[in-house]
Amino acid sequence: MNLENIRTILLDGDGVLYHADEPVTGIGRFFDVLADRKIQWGLLTNNGTRSAEDLRRKLSRFGVPTNDGMIFTSATVTAAYLQEHFSPGARIYVIGEAGIKNTLKEANFEVFEGETVPSHIDVVVSGMDRSVTYQKLRVATLLIRYGEAAFVATNPDTTFPSPDGIVPGAGSILAALTAATDREPLVMGKPASTMYQVAMRTLNADSTTTIMVGDRMDTDIVGAQRIGLHSLLVLSVISTREEAEESLPPPDLILDDINSLADVLEQSAN
Ligand SMILES: [Mg+2]
Repeated sequence: MNLENIRTILLDGDGVLYHADEPVTGIGRFFDVLADRKIQWGLLTNNGTRSAEDLRRKLSRFGVPTNDGMIFTSATVTAAYLQEHFSPGARIYVIGEAGIKNTLKEANFEVFEGETVPSHIDVVVSGMDRSVTYQKLRVATLLIRYGEAAFVATNPDTTFPSPDGIVPGAGSILAALTAATDREPLVMGKPASTMYQVAMRTLNADSTTTIMVGDRMDTDIVGAQRIGLHSLLVLSVISTREEAEESLPPPDLILDDINSLADVLEQSAN
């Protein structure tokens, strides 16, 4: 892979551009280098609990100008996929938080939630829900088992890091639902190809000149490799250099952080 030819960079958020609400050092310079090199970019995050607008505001607080069209969350990608496959007004039962529910409402779907079984439901969407209950899992199970509802998952991440340690993520709720329904969901977020495909189409990107930059081998990098994109692992607490080098195939590049990527991009220009 020759970085000189890269025209599009797909970036994971947490662990690459920021840690929770703190930007990584050198974030301003990194985006200056992208602008200089006329490289377009998109943010791909499996976190669907915050809206694209929230993320846009967060990036602009870090001095990174962006627009909603460059931000792909598991919620926006789920909405884009459902718009392609279901009619406006389709009825969707959601286990999830405000990010996914509002995004689906804005996409003109009728959103159902709560602990009673609605009459007809086209799709059950399972995402991260910090207020999940047995009753919600019961409703979703009945709709999938007997209501012929399609079964869609925002993202498969079983855990995520919190200040107290590793805690359950969307994938843990999903594990309960797959156990109860005996069905496998259609997954929207990384490493499933849907998120990459929606982003590539929206950005009008070509796979031969696109690279995915992430800090998780099992989602960011594996997903990119599956659909033939170049990949770059940046090191964080999640995936180590040894783990990355031993994986088959390894990522095309392993760097400490986006500062090092900015250095490499500057050198490749000369
Ligand atoms: Mg990450």
